[in-house]
Amino acid sequence: MEEWPEKEAFKATTHFIHRGDFIDALLGVLPEGMVKLDHRLVSIVDNGATATATFANGAVVEADLIVGADGIRSQVRQHLFSDRAPVFAGEHAYRIVIPQSDTFGIVDDGNFRMFMGRGTKIYLPLLLHRGEPSYDVTSLSADPSPVPAFNKEELLRVAQGFDDKLVKITEGLNPAQVNLRAVYDSDPVDRWHSDCVALIGDAAQAMLNHQGQGANSAVLDAYQANRKPVTDELQRTSRQGWSEDEIKTVFPNQRPGEIAARS
Ligand SMILES: Cc1cc2nc3c(=O)[nH]c(=O)nc-3n(C[C@H](O)[C@H](O)[C@H](O)COP(=O)(O)OP(=O)(O)OC[C@H]3O[C@@H](n4cnc5c(N)ncnc54)[C@H](O)[C@@H]3O)c2cc1C
Repeated sequence: MEEWPEKEAFKATTHFIHRGDFIDALLGVLPEGMVKLDHRLVSIVDNGATATATFANGAVVEADLIVGADGIRSQVRQHLFSDRAPVFAGEHAYRIVIPQSDTFGIVDDGNFRMFMGRGTKIYLPLLLHRGEPSYDVTSLSADPSPVPAFNKEELLRVAQGFDDKLVKITEGLNPAQVNLRAVYDSDPVDRWHSDCVALIGDAAQAMLNHQGQGANSAVLDAYQANRKPVTDELQRTSRQGWSEDEIKTVFPNQRPGEIAARS
């Protein structure tokens, strides 16, 4: 993990860590056997004092408290708190970790690089603990498939006109290592918990990726009273950058005042 920007100069700092490394770190401190895989939740019932969760493998669990940390397409949220579907932002996000030696020197000075234009955002966050920067491209797309098929020609078209080094990085990408997702967020949910079920993370408040605030918000979310005003604001500001007309088409369920249009 590393700090950015430099603490002395900015009096505040952001920590970067690769998602896989973070998950390994969390798993490493949990007792053996605590995490049970292959349990896909198919229904959840709020009984008042307890809740009952049913899984696709036939397991049924009744508990005093169930925490729904099941992401942007949360079954817990859809069954108990909100039937509003995730909202497509009209963008695709490409994420690839590449060796520093494949970056043509573009991050060799140790600085985080951002390039923007024509609706495309390209970031190179440094993952110095790995010696491998992440090459992050977010570009406009009308295809809402949650996991679109990767098309290198399309990404090359997106990179054309940016710094030649970015074009060369794109040309050299190994398609098997490209992680591609359509970008979605959710409209704010009024309530994150009952007496026996709580939502946390993207299940409660999925936001667009533009401020890099999703995962750390998930970690901090434990108290609705403290956290909901903060994540409501992060959801709102992460949607900034659309014009008034685009907001009407991209976020049709938006309540008045929830998004400030680009000035
Ligand atoms: C392209 C992209 C870039 C991003 N970049 C950043 C960034 O730079 N910084 C940042 O902080 N955040 C970023 N985010 C957001 C971040 O990924 C999320 O906010 C974070 O992963 C949310 O964590 P979570 O645990 O709530 O949900 P998830 O990480 O989505 O985990 C949910 C888990 O629940 C499981 N699950 C789902 N349904 C069921 C079911 N029915 N039964 C059982 N299990 C189920 C899933 O398999 C998954 O393991 C990005 C997101 C995207 C898409």
